[in-house]
Order: sequence, then C-alpha cells, then structure tokens
Amino acid sequence: MTLIADSPTTCHERLMAEHSAHNYHPLPVVIAEGAGAWVTDVEGRRYLDCLAGYSALNFGHGHPALLAAAHRQLDRVTLTSRAFGNDQLGPFCAEVAELVGKDMVLPMNTGAEAVETGLKVARKWGYEVKGVPENRAHVIVAARAFHGRTISIVSFSTDPEARGGFGPFTPGFTAVPYGDPDALRAAITPETVAVLIEPIQGEAGVVVPPAGYLPAVREICSTANVLFVADEVQSGLGRTGHVLATRAAGTDADVYLLGKALGGGITPLSAVVADADVLGVLRPGQHGSTFGGNPLACAVGRAVIELLEDDGPGGLLARARTLGAVLHARLARTLGRGVLAVRGTGLWAGIDIDPRLASGREVCERLARAGVLVKDTHGSTIRLSPPLVVTAEEIGVAVDALEAVLADLRRPRGAGLRRRVSRA
Ligand SMILES: *Cc1c(COP(=O)(O)O)cnc(C)c1O
Repeated sequence: MTLIADSPTTCHERLMAEHSAHNYHPLPVVIAEGAGAWVTDVEGRRYLDCLAGYSALNFGHGHPALLAAAHRQLDRVTLTSRAFGNDQLGPFCAEVAELVGKDMVLPMNTGAEAVETGLKVARKWGYEVKGVPENRAHVIVAARAFHGRTISIVSFSTDPEARGGFGPFTPGFTAVPYGDPDALRAAITPETVAVLIEPIQGEAGVVVPPAGYLPAVREICSTANVLFVADEVQSGLGRTGHVLATRAAGTDADVYLLGKALGGGITPLSAVVADADVLGVLRPGQHGSTFGGNPLACAVGRAVIELLEDDGPGGLLARARTLGAVLHARLARTLGRGVLAVRGTGLWAGIDIDPRLASGREVCERLARAGVLVKDTHGSTIRLSPPLVVTAEEIGVAVDALEAVLADLRRPRGAGLRRRVSRA
C-alpha cells in the first residue's frame, strides 16, 4: 500500500478508490482535521470549508459548546435503545418542540429517515384521520427536489441518476414543478394526504421559490385537508438566518423534517416535528429506530438548540443574516464575469458558472487548489454554504478566490496554455 513516491493524499485516494464503494466522486482533498470554518488535509494544507457538510456543520467544526456536550455525554451513557427511556430524550424532544412551536418530536438519525418517517405519518394520518381508502394515499412532491436516497425517496425523484437501476419503485407520488401553485392545486386529488417540499431547494442549486409560493402551498393544503410537510433538513436550523425557512417566508407547515445541523456535525440526528393530532397517529410498534433518540445524539442536539435559541444580535442566526447580506453583495459583483446567476438567502448561495468557461467541477477543483472548499451540483452550478461562524473577512477570502478562478478561466486560451506548459 505504500509506495515511497506517493504523497499522503495519493495514498489515501488509492485506498478509497480500491476499498470505498464508488458512489461518490470526491474532490482531491483528504481532510485530517477541522476547526471552526477551516479544515487541514493530510499534508498540512489549510482550506476554508465553504460547504460545511451540506449544512450539517452549520456551527463549524468542533464548536466548543457542542464538543463539551458530546464529551460530557460520552462519559455518562451513549445508547439505551428505545426499549427504555433516557434522561436526554424527554428534554431534547421538549426543547425541539418549543423551538419549532409544535407539540411532538420523533427523533431519527438521518435526513432520509426523517423524510421516510414523515411520509409514513402522512399516509397513516390520511387513512385514520382524513379517511382515505386503504392503500390509496397520494403524496405530491416537487420536481428537482432532493429528499435523500432510500428506495421510496428515489421513487419520486425526477433525477434520472438518482432513480436509474433502482426500480421497482414505490407508488403513490406525483411530482409537480416547484414554485408553481397552480400546478400543485391541479395535482391535488381526494386521496392526497401530503405535499412534501423543500422551502428552498438545496441540491437543485439553492432555488428560492417566488415570494408567495409557500403561503400558497399552505392555503392549498388547508383548503384540501392535506398535510404540508416541509423538508427543512438543509434549509432549517440557521442556514438562512432563521430557525425555519418556511416561517421566514411568513407561513407554517404541519410537519417539519429536521436533520443535518441538528446533530451539530458530531452525530447523525434528525427529527419529525408536528402537532399531536398528526404525530399521534403512531402507536407503539408501528415505527422505530435502534439509534433514534439515543442519549449522545440528544445531548448534542440539545446543545444545538441552545445555540439556536439565541436570536440576539450576537447569535448565529443574526450572523447568518448579516454575513449573508455581505456574501450576496460580494457575489452580485461576479455576475457577467463568468457567472450567469446567483441565488440564495442567508449564508447559502447557488452560483451558475457560465458553462462555456468551465464546469462546476472544474471551478471546485481550482478553488480547492486555492484553499477554498465548495461543491458543484447539476453540471455548472456551485453552491456555497460556509459555517455560520465564518467571518466577513473569510467570506472575502472565498469570493476573492472565486473571482481569481473566474478571471483565470476568462483569460485568452494561449495565456492559460503557456502557464500550464511552464509548470509542467
Ligand atoms: C441532505 C438532505 C436529505 C437527506 O439527508 P441524509 O442525512 O443525507 O439522509 C433530505 N432532505 C434534504 C432537503 C436534504 O438536503
């Protein structure tokens, strides 16, 4: 495994290529350590982490309060299973319920599990409360959505790569265009039990719907007696400068799905949050998870909630709003200079690179070489979601690097060629 000539990066990459399933195509960076908004690779190079684990690291790497909570709980008890109670579960559920403003919380582990759980709850609610005939429950989703990778979730994905080769698919779903209330209204049937949408589509490229869309979804759901299920796994818990993007849009869902940042970047932790008339349809034995609600995850989750409860001027939510404005003001200056469009809100941006210049992947590789980590999506889009602990100065570093990469790509071909030749 060790050739003397190999760099540590090459060595790790070979191990990953040979023994880690090829379901990802990572950028050529092998991270060994992280602190705040920065990570260090196996060769000691530092990078500004502007992906933040797709928002799982909203509070940065190794946030002191979260690490302290995890360390404390590691020494007490880490797993009990739900066969018994544990002294972190009740307080965690109460604190999440209070933060979100609903009655009940069902803790799971990953975002996909929260989505699956939300769908099971919606179907059961449909049969028991709404009175939909058995096995007829219908759920409406949005095109280009991302909700995870399980069989049922890819069953309603409109991304051929996510679905291809994984059938047969779970029936009962209809996808409608995102941001179009009329299309949604037209798709509702008497058997529709839920509308599942992201209040901002993350993986699609940070797509913010038109103003009025989410309130319209609320109105359509209320009129038709359908549950509005908001997948806030990525948009929630601070990314937009708010606890919930749905509320920031001036409306309220019936069911909130939380994940990613809920585990503080330390442990997987997700949750389904709703009022008792909805979540109450689940009774013992009908749903569960060995690790769901484990005391370690709950202890970390409680420390996350505590960070989010501070919406004062010095808090992380305020930071995301203020620094989000700084980020978007800086990014607006890249428009027309290799960038076709910038979308987003808070510390969250989707940037469409002019495909004639480079692919999103190429821009991400160049940014990584410049010490800034971001990730491409759907060909020519890159997305920026730095941890909320990032500083205005660090945002400047990231956008400067992007501008330098774009300027380099826009230089006449010959100049780039000469540089490449002389470097070789
Ligand atoms: C990441 C994500 C998920 C899936 O979460 P996992 O923890 O990867 O299963 C679901 N919904 C949205 C909106 C996401 O961004």
